[in-house]
Amino acid sequence: MKNVLLLTLAAFAALPSAVRIQAQSYPITVVPPGKGPYRFPPGYQIPWDKIEIFVSEKVSPNLFVLHGSEALDPAHPESSGGRAMALFGPDGVLLVDTENRQVAEKTLKAIRSFTDAPIKVLVNTHIHPDHTGANAFFAKQGAVIFSQDDLRNEMVRPPMRANGTAAPGPEAAAVPVVTYKYSAATRGEPAVTLNMNGEITDFIPMMPSHTAGDTIVRFRKANVIYIEDFYRNFGYPFADQANGGSIRGMLDAIDLIEKLADANTTLVPGHGTLVKKTDLLAYRAMLVDMLAKVKALRGQGKSLKDVLTANLTAQYDKTTMGDTQDSKDRFITEVYDEVGDFPPVVDGKRTMPRHQ
Ligand SMILES: [Zn+2]
Repeated sequence: MKNVLLLTLAAFAALPSAVRIQAQSYPITVVPPGKGPYRFPPGYQIPWDKIEIFVSEKVSPNLFVLHGSEALDPAHPESSGGRAMALFGPDGVLLVDTENRQVAEKTLKAIRSFTDAPIKVLVNTHIHPDHTGANAFFAKQGAVIFSQDDLRNEMVRPPMRANGTAAPGPEAAAVPVVTYKYSAATRGEPAVTLNMNGEITDFIPMMPSHTAGDTIVRFRKANVIYIEDFYRNFGYPFADQANGGSIRGMLDAIDLIEKLADANTTLVPGHGTLVKKTDLLAYRAMLVDMLAKVKALRGQGKSLKDVLTANLTAQYDKTTMGDTQDSKDRFITEVYDEVGDFPPVVDGKRTMPRHQ
């Protein structure tokens, strides 16, 4: 009896400590995003055949993050595409976003490196092609696609391109099947809760922020929230106003995360590095500062060109990785458009002024 007890104790001591060490070490970074700086020659074309998709982080034993190669994709040179996540186990795979259409097979292959379970559910955090590009591919694998109503509207009736031409419509299989709406009265509450693979996963619709159709995805047991692109730490902030986004909405989104997350919650942005909620504060302060400064200049009758020339982001360049001139100009132009005559959201879109 005594020997059995000792053996049991020995086994108990050996096993849980290994489990404990593992539990403490999440999130595990497998491949960190690159830091740059990056340069691409004029006329550069993305060599999709060279881009790899791999597990970049593990945030729990059955919740992995996927991302792409660095230094090949000018839109996201630090790591091609937007992050995708896969929750896996006996109930099948729940996917958050898809990566680009051109690398769909590679994304599936990366998923197949850790699970053979069927692809069951796909939720889109927002419409951008590095997040929804392989929707049709994964729908054909068996995924039922979830999103906000406004994302579906943006997809079915896309806004005009900057050059004034109509954008092409989507492949039918790419269009979300299950939709829900954001309501200010229930802000922060999940529209959908899924119980799969021992995890409780919430799809929480967001106010118009990065786009009008944003959703964040909370994994309650892992204490992880996928916060998509209203926050970024590579390049200056981007609110896609033509698709209904808004800089002020991004402030509201950050304030909602402040309420939903605790100090230890792992926040997974679409791009850049994983963060905790305190990391959002400096970013928030910069948005407030730029809104005030640009509003003052626009109030004095300054043109967009004058405001861009004023180089208002100078003090943030040192702490903003990927601070290219394009990234700064895009951000300040958005702020300029937002502080005066900002068009309302209709059907998930805004009719933005065109600048030469
Ligand atoms: Zn995006």
